[in-house]
Amino acid sequence: MSTVFWFRRDLRLGDNPALLAACAHGPVLPLFVLDPALWGPAGPSRRAYLAASLGALDASLRADGGRLSVVRGDPVRQVVRAARAVGASEVHVAADHGPYGARRDREVEAALAEEGVALVRTGSPYAVSPGRVRKADGSAYQVFTPFSRAWAEHGWRGPVAAPTGVKWQHLTEDTTEVPRPPLPAGLTLPEAGEEAAHRRWAEFLDDGVADYDERRDRPDLPGTSRMSHHLKWGEIHPRTLLADLAPRRGAGAGIYRTELAWREFYADVLDARPDTARDYLRAEYARMPYDEPDERFEAWCAGRTGFPVVDAAMRQLRAVGWMHNRMRMVSASFLVKDLHVEWQHGARHFLHWLVDGDLASNNHGWQWTAGSGTDAAPFFRVFNPTSQGRRFDPDGAYVRRWVQELADPERVPDPHDPSPEVRHSVGYPLAILDHGAERREALQRWETIRR
Ligand SMILES: Cc1cc2nc3c(=O)[nH]c(=O)nc-3n(C[C@H](O)[C@H](O)[C@H](O)COP(=O)(O)OP(=O)(O)OC[C@H]3O[C@@H](n4cnc5c(N)ncnc54)[C@H](O)[C@@H]3O)c2cc1C
Repeated sequence: MSTVFWFRRDLRLGDNPALLAACAHGPVLPLFVLDPALWGPAGPSRRAYLAASLGALDASLRADGGRLSVVRGDPVRQVVRAARAVGASEVHVAADHGPYGARRDREVEAALAEEGVALVRTGSPYAVSPGRVRKADGSAYQVFTPFSRAWAEHGWRGPVAAPTGVKWQHLTEDTTEVPRPPLPAGLTLPEAGEEAAHRRWAEFLDDGVADYDERRDRPDLPGTSRMSHHLKWGEIHPRTLLADLAPRRGAGAGIYRTELAWREFYADVLDARPDTARDYLRAEYARMPYDEPDERFEAWCAGRTGFPVVDAAMRQLRAVGWMHNRMRMVSASFLVKDLHVEWQHGARHFLHWLVDGDLASNNHGWQWTAGSGTDAAPFFRVFNPTSQGRRFDPDGAYVRRWVQELADPERVPDPHDPSPEVRHSVGYPLAILDHGAERREALQRWETIRR
């Protein structure tokens, strides 16, 4: 019996239970559908990264005597067509819990059923699939700590090996090349693919995880794993990481596990409340007065606010399609609480550039910062961008790295708060706003929804 394995956010051969399930019955067609509904909005970083990752997946399949068949168009039509072409009776996938993916899969499932073909879901991009961890009353958690406890108690299966001895099939008609659009000037991306993911993970296990607890909040140090884009595209599964962390007892490994739990938590929250991809989780925040994005929003996007650490963060995003977590919080807070712009505008800008851009982690990271999301992230706790810079980038190395105008210590002795004269002489903008005044303004606006 032939089957189709439809790759989506699981671009790997190893530790892929859904692929193993597909391979259990006979010849397998490895398929990727270039869906215009996802490709278009993905932004330049994710499009280019996805193209590279599909190239790496194809190379792995070719090394095993197969190849990846890529088709373009509506998945409902394309998956049915592929199943028909190889006479498959099952199409295997890892479940997609995102609002679009879940809906798309239901439609594909119904269309396949009309042809007598089953859509078989095995696992998901998470150690514990969204929807599994529930409170005693059956409802979803909205607070992280009890979720993470229940998540750890629930547990997960161990990693599985890559399939062997598979007879791979391919489509002979109407396949397409993955477009490789040129990257916008100034943008460079990390290496994609399963091998690169394992290499990076091995490096981090060797020389990063032990002091992750101490270094992870420092954007000036290479203190985090840089695994987010590999996880986003499923080039490695979190279960593989959790299995490697299990024997390690140090604080670094423990906190790393907790960070992975945040990823799972936000996927669970979004699964329970798909509307929160766009709307406020705490509905009252929709009533707060906000400003429309104007030229100050443009300055924020371009990294020209005159607040060095915010500008460094926004320029890092444009340069490498990634931003350090603390800087994501600081720059997001700046948009919502200093510029009084709704979080959705910032979330969209992030998703346009982030190579790890993920609806659940991004939009709930934004809602958390905006005070409208899960957990106790009180709105009145407003980040001061200058003191955040001094605290987490104590030598100014991060600011100097990303804000060229402030790079020279001779000309700019204090990169976190250069004087107006220094700014003028190096061509760096004056601050576009007074943080103290905007903080007070933010709190006044917040009062209007507390009454
Ligand atoms: C406003 C905002 C937007 C964000 N947008 C995204 C996004 O689009 N995609 C994304 O993967 N992460 C997002 N995050 C979470 C976090 O910033 C990134 O996961 C992290 O910076 C990735 O770098 P790393 O792999 O080196 O992280 P590490 O510190 O090494 O963490 C390891 C892994 O844990 C997970 N993780 C860590 N922190 C978080 C978190 N707060 N929420 C969810 N997962 C987490 C990620 O999968 C990460 O790869 C966002 C956070 C904020 C505040």
